[in-house]
Amino acid sequence: MSDRGMLAVVSGFSGAGKGTLMKRLLEKYDCYALSVSATTRAPRDGEEHGREYFFHTKEEFEELILQDALIEYAKYVDNYYGTPKSYVEKQLEAGKDVILEIEIQGALKVKEKLPDTLLLFVTPPSAEELKRRLEGRGTETPEVIASRLRRASEEAKAMPLYDYILVNDDLETCVDQMHEIIQSQHNTVANNTSFIEKITDEVSVFAKGE
Ligand code: ADP
Ligand code: 5GP
Repeated sequence: MSDRGMLAVVSGFSGAGKGTLMKRLLEKYDCYALSVSATTRAPRDGEEHGREYFFHTKEEFEELILQDALIEYAKYVDNYYGTPKSYVEKQLEAGKDVILEIEIQGALKVKEKLPDTLLLFVTPPSAEELKRRLEGRGTETPEVIASRLRRASEEAKAMPLYDYILVNDDLETCVDQMHEIIQSQHNTVANNTSFIEKITDEVSVFAKGE
């Protein structure tokens, strides 16, 4: 079977619990690497450059675009966000399953470039719970919360383009489901064409012996 890691994209409404899920997934299982994105948004309290994001000015970000250093980038509520290429490639090569926690436009661009990418969409059990989580997190102003909720209504329309929907109700259940889905992709026929060719060739020896 292939030693290369899988690429999985996790998207979902702001406040759905993506960050919380990612943190728990990485604590619980050691086969994953989480890509750290570049962004022009300001750090939230407690966020560190190089850990949650690489924080850049608009000019620095535009330079990354010019250098073709990003797999994809998108604008989300007035800021740029993008996925640095080199880290993702290195981790996949090392056999890690790499997760990109990115919004929908970026997710679709990645799928177009790399069609084997698995697209996962995380949602809370209800819209009411989404609002409660976003307000409860207390990291955005009421105006930003309102624009993120408006954006959620647009984002919902893209859910049918994803491969799997994950309802983040009980956190541990959702983390385990995500792990099982990603791991099962290692066994798809599409991801094992070299192995299939090899074993087909090997067993053909038996037919010749008849
Ligand atoms: P996102 O990264 O999708 O914007 P966060 O991970 O920041 O979302 O979660 C938003 C809020 O919801 C946080 O306050 C977090 O603690 C809470 N939260 C996340 N998952 C759950 C869950 N399964 N049940 C209840 N609250 C949750
Ligand atoms: P936040 O500001 O809440 O950290 O992120 C806002 C949105 O940007 C989230 O939907 C998050 O998934 C998305 N995002 C984070 N990094 C990237 C990235 O590298 N590319 C794209 N396209 N979206 C990203």
